[in-house]
Amino acid sequence: MIGFIGGSGIYDALPLNDVREKAVSTPYGDPSAPVTIGEFGDTGTEVAFLPRHGSDHQRSPTNLPYRANIYAFKQLGVERILASNAVGSLRDELSPQTLVIPDQIFDRTNHRDATFFGDGVVVHQPFADPYCPHMVEHLHDAATDATDADTQQGGTYVCIEGPQYSTRAESEFYKAQGWDLVGMTAIPEAKLAREAEMCYATVAGVTDYDVWKADSEVTLDEVLANAAANEDAIKATVERAIETLPDERDCDCGHSLDGTVNTPPEAIPEETRDRVAPLLGDHI
Ligand SMILES: [Zn+2]
Repeated sequence: MIGFIGGSGIYDALPLNDVREKAVSTPYGDPSAPVTIGEFGDTGTEVAFLPRHGSDHQRSPTNLPYRANIYAFKQLGVERILASNAVGSLRDELSPQTLVIPDQIFDRTNHRDATFFGDGVVVHQPFADPYCPHMVEHLHDAATDATDADTQQGGTYVCIEGPQYSTRAESEFYKAQGWDLVGMTAIPEAKLAREAEMCYATVAGVTDYDVWKADSEVTLDEVLANAAANEDAIKATVERAIETLPDERDCDCGHSLDGTVNTPPEAIPEETRDRVAPLLGDHI
């Protein structure tokens, strides 16, 4: 099963057959919405969809149930997650309606639970490449094939806490680092997907130039128009990516917990063990 987490502007699932809604509960609370599950076209591929912000965008980036969303997908047997984000651009050449498939993240969040572990089990996982490199390439190929949008493969996504947008000083600082995008939801989603040994990549649709660009006066109307245009391109990208995804994974994501559990299994408290067992599996 393939998971899709839709960002701002993506509240409808993809064209699916035999659609059902499944209310999933997890030890980390309820996901953003009931999970929509269905067969993608006549491919036989099952897709599970969650709108990240809830069906009516009721939740702010700080308070989203990131852990419940990823854990719910894990319980459903999802191995690969495609996601989308609405983002601001930090580069002149990444104009609104450009689709970027980032390959790096700079984490500026500070109020989020970014791990499934703790409470008696310590896991130190490599996170040098926060997105699945195969999925990044695959998503970029899909965006190029399925849309007329300008696209970029790779780039650094600065994840801020929000809900306010950046100050001008912050925006100019991020731009000066050579980073590409600013948004509010890549973290902890990418960290949790890695902890769940899932492939994870995202298609980020540019809606505006943040506040570094002095001559840019982006109006709400423009942002909404760009988000609407991005919605069609993002859906087309994700649909193409699902259609063409190889049956089997050919990357290391499925083994990303190997050798990372520092706590001896017998020392893990029973309550914690029950909660993390679906994630750690044979590792404890
Ligand atoms: Zn992978």
